[in-house]
Amino acid sequence: MPKFLCKTCGVQHPESATPPAHCRFCQDGRQFVPREGQQWITPEALAIGRFNVFRKVAPDLFGISTVPQFAIGQRAFLVITPAGNVLWDCLSFLDSATIETIRAFGGIKAIAVSHPHFYSATADWGRVFGCPVLLHDADRQWLAEPDPCIEFWTGETREVLPGVTLHRLGGHFPGSSVLYWSERRTLLSGDTVMVTPDRMHVTLMWSYPNYVPLPAAEVQRIGRRLDALDFDALYSAFWDRGDIDRNAKAAVQRSVDRYVHGPKA
Ligand SMILES: [Zn+2]
Repeated sequence: MPKFLCKTCGVQHPESATPPAHCRFCQDGRQFVPREGQQWITPEALAIGRFNVFRKVAPDLFGISTVPQFAIGQRAFLVITPAGNVLWDCLSFLDSATIETIRAFGGIKAIAVSHPHFYSATADWGRVFGCPVLLHDADRQWLAEPDPCIEFWTGETREVLPGVTLHRLGGHFPGSSVLYWSERRTLLSGDTVMVTPDRMHVTLMWSYPNYVPLPAAEVQRIGRRLDALDFDALYSAFWDRGDIDRNAKAAVQRSVDRYVHGPKA
């Protein structure tokens, strides 16, 4: 029996004789069912004409994404540290070239995913690389493809490897998280914190595709959490509009202030 991936959100569902009737990720208010209706694709069909590309974002930090774009089109990150490598966020598509390339970098010690929209094919990735997949327990209900490699973590922070720590900030989803790489003063934020196209601000929303903002009190709360971290670079989920290479912490605080108090004329 095939597995089925939702063509809109990219989340892979377990093997079944026929496609699921609905995608609960896309029926949720944070996502959408496209005008043409719910559509599914098998991994075999997804693989036709597709491959993954790697782009170096900073020293020891590579972004990985699928071309042609599939579903939401996020990038994952391979974080290379002396203690081993971490994959931050995940993709729906995994091929042998990707596996061999990542193995040449030393494999993956742990995978961590920011929130349910990027659960993608993470069980496949965890199995292939023989590593745990860390998902926040607050989003446990969203897991589509259970697997022994999936590990739910609880609380507000979790060390993944020395110097690499998950912080649950909430907001977009109750378990929405960021990955903090202290030695490089770098924050990988998924869309828990989204860089805006000017690359000088971030935004925090409950739904990005449906333009539903978070309450101001939530934005202030998340701003206080981020104020406690010493970071200079911030990379969110998408290429070309996702990178703040320097002074990102000031950009976050400026953005929180603008969000709560309105723009200065
Ligand atoms: Zn979906």
